[in-house]
Amino acid sequence: MVTFTFLTVFAWHWVACSTSRCCPVFIGGSSVTNGVGTATSKRSCDQLRCISCDFRVLMFDDSEWDASCDYLFLRNNMPDRHKLRAKLKKRKGLRAYACQCNWFSSSEAMDLRDQPQLRWVCGKHKD
Ligand SMILES: [Zn+2]
Ligand SMILES: [Zn+2]
Repeated sequence: MVTFTFLTVFAWHWVACSTSRCCPVFIGGSSVTNGVGTATSKRSCDQLRCISCDFRVLMFDDSEWDASCDYLFLRNNMPDRHKLRAKLKKRKGLRAYACQCNWFSSSEAMDLRDQPQLRWVCGKHKD
């Protein structure tokens, strides 16, 4: 029984932490390299997907969401990058992220587990 539990946990880890999936998942400012994030290599994930609205998370380099950005605006304009720019401000070093139900501006690499309101997961990278 102990062996079975161990193998199950091991197998789950292998799936969750494969080379094509971020583990943990990071987001970051525009100077943070995109790629597969690991505990030792804080790369920001560029294949994010929201498990609440099932939209792909869009990213805008050197941008920040305006304070007037809200849920309704995203719902009406997602995923039109051109229209979304209406509520983006130019801000060197920051990277703005958004799905259809949530938005976030990040300046440095941060672990998504510290932002529980963002229901974003790594949607898997190409090998
Ligand atoms: Zn990823
Ligand atoms: Zn969402």
